[in-house]
Formats: sequence, structure tokens, C-alpha cells
Amino acid sequence: MTIGLTLYDFIAGHDSFPKGSWLNQAEALAKSPMLTHQMHSAVLYYDGQFNDARYALAMAHSADEAGTAVVNYAAVTGFTHENGRIKTAVVQDQLTAETIEVKAAVFLNCTGPYADHVRLLANPAVDRRIRPSKGVHIVLPRETLASDFAILIPKTADGRVVFAIPFGDKVFVGTTDNDYSDLKQEPVLEPDEVDYLIETVRPYLDKTPNRSDIQAGFGGIRPLIVSSRADTKALLRDHEVEHDTESGLLSLLGGKWTTYRVMAQDAIDRVGELLNKPVRSSTETHYLIGGENYHFEDWQALQTQYSLPADACQHLMRTYGNRAEHVAKLTQEQPAWAEKLTDSQPFLKAEVVYQVREEMAVTLRDVLARRWRLELSNWQLTAQLAPQVAELMATELAWSEAYRTQQIQSYQNLLGSFIKQAGLPFEQAAIA
Ligand SMILES: Cc1cc2nc3c(=O)[nH]c(=O)nc-3n(C[C@H](O)[C@H](O)[C@H](O)COP(=O)(O)OP(=O)(O)OC[C@H]3O[C@@H](n4cnc5c(N)ncnc54)[C@H](O)[C@@H]3O)c2cc1C
Repeated sequence: MTIGLTLYDFIAGHDSFPKGSWLNQAEALAKSPMLTHQMHSAVLYYDGQFNDARYALAMAHSADEAGTAVVNYAAVTGFTHENGRIKTAVVQDQLTAETIEVKAAVFLNCTGPYADHVRLLANPAVDRRIRPSKGVHIVLPRETLASDFAILIPKTADGRVVFAIPFGDKVFVGTTDNDYSDLKQEPVLEPDEVDYLIETVRPYLDKTPNRSDIQAGFGGIRPLIVSSRADTKALLRDHEVEHDTESGLLSLLGGKWTTYRVMAQDAIDRVGELLNKPVRSSTETHYLIGGENYHFEDWQALQTQYSLPADACQHLMRTYGNRAEHVAKLTQEQPAWAEKLTDSQPFLKAEVVYQVREEMAVTLRDVLARRWRLELSNWQLTAQLAPQVAELMATELAWSEAYRTQQIQSYQNLLGSFIKQAGLPFEQAAIA
């Protein structure tokens, strides 16, 4: 068999990768020692990688600094209409259940896989356009590959592509691709998906991972777009900006991370057209916050100035870019915030404070899953760190003792439920 070996590079400042090449068995094993010796040869190629949680956050943060009103935990739950056209959007705070009405000249719906729900709220007569597709990954220890090189399984038994990708101190194996209908439910890892992914990597590795090696898993929903009645092709373009002329709603449908900027430009161009105010997009050259004059080596200056551990300074640079110093500075306000949460990870207490003050973190999951991504890679450690994170958040957000306890318990229960639903042999007691 021939295996694909992929070296991932974090996208930064250059647009091209080195050329790919053939490797014979010895060359492939030198780069990826856990590969099966049944392999004949490998193809080496290069690809880009990024931290999607931080990237999404950097976009929201940049929008905020550019003057946009950014809110989180706010859902559109309905619209008011005048002669069939949207007049206001009813927006509900998902933490307090408070609602407000928002007026706008144009309403633009960018809710990914949930787009049909909002389209139907605006106009119950429209056809559905999204076919949600669930994709999950399982997370294994880095030693599973013991390499910086990912492996690409080009054709699985059911004709898909599966990757095993080193990421930090873990290896992510995925993804699946299955239709998903109940969008009210969070897509979680399930036992048959665990079996599928383990069975898929089995022939490619000398030592097959077991279910007990799995440290976490995560699922997502792709917003695949299907044809409108007017267009009979089954699955069409990557993305489309749809204007419902009855309600007036604009919807940005489909798309991918790789094309997000073009998607945004197409959507805003359409808004400009409707308002008769063409806008010149500047996103191609606009630095997201933390990106301008970014030099990873600056972690050393940070370490010298703030006397912080080296791994923490490197992590601050990678996570916050040139805003790393804003985090480090907090350790002068409160020296205890210079401590790490745990020896095995680079996370500083100061980060929790920064994430609350500057990145709108208001729940434990905001910090541990959506800003650090730890939940995606290690459920047990996430549960262990939750009380410490809660203590820091409680001070910043003036949580009562009872609210803090409830936050910890409900988050740890959620993590326990992920393990249970995946059918993994973890000690439930270690979490709940
Ligand atoms: C497993 C998997 C692998 C992928 N791999 C790749 C890849 O390799 N390359 C690539 O380019 N893309 C990839 N994608 C696709 C990419 O991640 C998605 O296309 C992208 O996340 C969709 O972004 P989005 O902003 O449209 O939707 P989402 O990221 O899903 O965001 C939708 C937002 O709308 C909010 N929302 C929902 N309902 C409402 C409401 N009523 N009111 C207000 N807000 C609401 C949600 O809370 C959410 O924040 C992958 C996706 C998955 C699931």
C-alpha cells in the first residue's frame, strides 16, 4: 500500500508550500516510525493548518475594534414583519432569557448549518437549502504517530478520506461525514464512529490504538448546500448569497473556512447593492488583531520582561499574537496570575482574566473549549481544571458561591456525558 504523509504548516506570511515527493519505505518510516511495515511507499506533501477557535475569535475581536457591536449568547428567535417584509429581529439572551428587538436596514443571516431555521423564521414558505453533515474526530496521544507528519488515508472502505494529524500533544483522527438532522442536539462522538475511525487507521499503523487510548472527541456540522428548485443540480457551489425578495432576508449559505473571506466579501457586496451603497472590501489586506508585526521569537523578550515560564510565553505568542503582552502585563496587577494552571500545560491564570475582560468569556466552556480548545483534546484534564478556572472567573464576574458550584457541576456532568455517549471505558468517577 502507498500512504500519504502530510507535513502541516501553520499558515503565516507565505502562500506556497514545498513540492511533494515520493518516499520509499525506509524514508517513510524515518519520518513516521509508527507506520505499518506492510507499506510499499509513501507520498509526502505539505498543507496548511490553523487554530480555528482562535481564528474565529480574532475575527470577532477585530470586528469589535473596528466598531461593530459584537454580542455572544444571543439568538434570533423570531422576526416581526410589515407586509411580509422583516421589520425587526427578536433576539434572545441565551443566559438570561431576556429578549430585545433589533431594527436594521438589511438582515444578513450567517448561521452556517442553522441557516434554514432562520430562513424559515423569516419566511415559512421557503425551501430548505442546507444538508447538514456531521463530522467527528477522535483524539489519541501523540505517541500514536510519534511524528510531526500526518497520515492521509486516501480511500477508506466507504470511499472517504481520513486523516491522522499531530496537533499539539495529541493526534486527531477524522473525520466522518454523515447526514445529521436534529440540529437542536450538539453533535457528539458516538460508539459506531469510534469503531469506524479506529478500524480505518488499523491497517496503516504497526500498533493499533484501543478505545481506552481515546482522550477526547469532538463533532461539528458542515453546512452543505443543496440546489434550489430553480437549479436542479444536486449539490452545487461552495457558497451562495441568497436574497429572499418576499421577506427581504439575505442568507449566506454553505461555504468553508478556506473560502470564508470571499464568502464575507460576496455577502457584503450584496448588502451594498441592496442599500445602493457599494462598499469596497478591505478584508484581503486587513490584519486580524494580534497579527500585525507578529514575530514568534518575541516570546523571549516576554519571558525576560515578565519572568514567566518559557512554554507559557511561547503559548502566549501562538495564541494571542502580538497581544501576548496584554496577557503578560496582567501578572503585574496580580502576581498569582503568573502561575500555570497545571504543570503539563502552558496555560496561565492571567489568561482566564484576559479572556473574561477582552474576549467575552462568560462560561467555563467559553474558556476551556472555545478559547483554549482543551475540551477538544482532553476531557479528563478539562474536568480537573474547571474548578480553578471557575475560581478566577467568579472573581472577575462576581459569581456567587452557589453559581460557581453549579457552573462547575454542570460542566463536569457535560464532560462525563460525552464519555458515556461515546461508550468509552473511562472511569466516570474521574469526572463527575
Ligand atoms: C468535521 C468538519 C471538518 C471540516 N473541515 C474543513 C476543512 O478542512 N477546511 C475548511 O475550509 N472547512 C472545513 N469545515 C467547514 C467549516 O468548518 C464550516 O464550513 C464552517 O465552520 C461553517 O462556518 P459558519 O460560520 O458558516 O457556521 P458555524 O461555524 O456553524 O457558525 C454558525 C453560528 O451561528 C450561530 N447561530 C445558529 N443559530 C442562530 C440563531 N438563531 N441566532 C443567532 N446565531 C445563531 C451558532 O451559534 C454559530 O455560532 C469542516 C467542518 C466540519 C464540521
